Amino acid sequence: MPDRLPDVIDPLALAEKRRHLRGEMALGQLDRVVKLLVDAQGSARVDLMFSKTGRQASVTGRVEAELVLQCQCCLGAMSWPVRSVVNLGIVSSVDQALMLPESMEPLLLDAESEMPLADIVQDELLLAIPAVPRHADCQLPRPLEAKPEKPHPFAGLAELKSKLSSQE
Ligand SMILES: [Zn+2]
Repeated sequence: MPDRLPDVIDPLALAEKRRHLRGEMALGQLDRVVKLLVDAQGSARVDLMFSKTGRQASVTGRVEAELVLQCQCCLGAMSWPVRSVVNLGIVSSVDQALMLPESMEPLLLDAESEMPLADIVQDELLLAIPAVPRHADCQLPRPLEAKPEKPHPFAGLAELKSKLSSQE
């Protein structure tokens, strides 16, 4: 029986205590991911280690799930296994985010230190979902189809930067 994961976490406090969170989270609980699924049954496996190196708190580990997406070519179901390696630096400002090593993506905390654990899990899964899912050998090719590219690993950071600069 997998451990029950907390709904809300305080990443900095967990990093101070070097806590390890392991368990499963129902896909139906992940509102932004569930919209993209043909079948919302099943769960994501979450294995996250919160730790601190010097003053930098981080979250490392993995998020895994067997997603069922809709092929945008034939509109049929396609299974999409996700094995996402998590390497997040916990930051409280964009300046801090820009100073993270390139291998890390920022986990930006706002004034409130607590956040839903589902946010981390969803962000990892969303990055692994193609913009235009389609079967590799789909029999119904479309003439004007977008390239099924994987999102850039730092797409989140670029989006964050543009979000912040548009607020200024
Ligand atoms: Zn297809």
